[in-house]
Amino acid sequence: MRCKYYKKCSGCQLQNLEYDEQLRYKQKQVNTLLSKYGRVEKVIPMAEPLHYRNKVQSMFYYDFRTKKICSGVYQSTTHRVVPVTDCMIDDEAAQDIINTITKLLNSFKIKAFDERRGTGYIRHALVRTGFQSGEIMVVLVTIKGSFPSKKNFVKALLDEQPEITTIVHNINPDGMNLTLGGVSEVLYGRGYIEDTLCGCTFGISPESFYQVNPVQTEVLYNTAIESAELTGKETVLDAYCGTGTIGIIASKKAGKVVGVELNSQAVRDAIKNAKRNGAENVFFECGDAGDYIHLLAQNGEKLDVVMLDPPRAGASVKFLKSLCKMKPKKVVYVSCNPETLARDLRFLTTHGYKTKLIQPVDMFPYTKHIECVCLLTR
Ligand code: SAH
Repeated sequence: MRCKYYKKCSGCQLQNLEYDEQLRYKQKQVNTLLSKYGRVEKVIPMAEPLHYRNKVQSMFYYDFRTKKICSGVYQSTTHRVVPVTDCMIDDEAAQDIINTITKLLNSFKIKAFDERRGTGYIRHALVRTGFQSGEIMVVLVTIKGSFPSKKNFVKALLDEQPEITTIVHNINPDGMNLTLGGVSEVLYGRGYIEDTLCGCTFGISPESFYQVNPVQTEVLYNTAIESAELTGKETVLDAYCGTGTIGIIASKKAGKVVGVELNSQAVRDAIKNAKRNGAENVFFECGDAGDYIHLLAQNGEKLDVVMLDPPRAGASVKFLKSLCKMKPKKVVYVSCNPETLARDLRFLTTHGYKTKLIQPVDMFPYTKHIECVCLLTR
């Protein structure tokens, strides 16, 4: 076993395999599911497949034996926290910051929230790093109130970890939940960080969605955008666009890009991101991707290229049906789940499309997950 926490944490399902064995395992899985729709290329591996996660989250709890606050990983199934102080896939600087926070919580005597008793104060911490910008954001999540001796705590944290660029206090009264609550106070810096992907700059606030492996995200996005062979004239739909990353990067090579996304906060982030990059040919709509493309089809609009990056459930039938009605010349499908991708490829290939490329990309080494880019043409 490479990782001493493996049995208890279970975050990295394949960590008992060497990296090339993991790649073979993933290749086989993708081949089995997708080879009936076209030739499956070799998985693009990650050159250095360790410490790739730019988002590190740790729970705090009181250890009655050592009488200290400790940090660890939350097991949602058991509601138990597994003590983890170093992880092979998390960013090392971020882990170091979590360990410093844990130490300071003990010296400041700030109590960890106790789920069973409903007592205590701090629940978890989130550290997000911009791999290219070097900016680091710390989010301290408590279940109530203002942060005790916050000035001194922030000063002590910055003294030990001067590379932190912003610190946010978030209040989430739902102590059982690892997510963020609605109320935030910026304790230091500007309250968000920026990072660069494929030459474009993106903002990352405490709650915004951002791919967790930025190195492989560039590989994934480049593969997807290059496969479309844009000439600068096309009208492109970026469906399930999140904070607009794919569409904004593609907009440099397209005539016009429209992004559609269900989450309204992500759409607000996407609009800001477009401004940040001076991308004036990108527009965003908030709503269901299926409803939106259905509307475009009804209005007789034209699309040259549809790029989609849906969640694990894949695209909806409504989306695929309207897509086939609109007949864009190219479809670039970015998928995080080869099973739903297989289902959707079956639909597209029986409704006039041909698969030209199936390219798996390893975005999550040591876990069982695999990402794929597919190009389809009419
Ligand atoms: N392309 C982005 C985000 C991909 S994640 C990136 O690479 O960062 C998938 C996105 O689909 C999420 O942002 C999620 O909010 C959005 N989504 C989920 N269901 C949706 C739907 N029915 N219509 C539109 N967007 C949806």
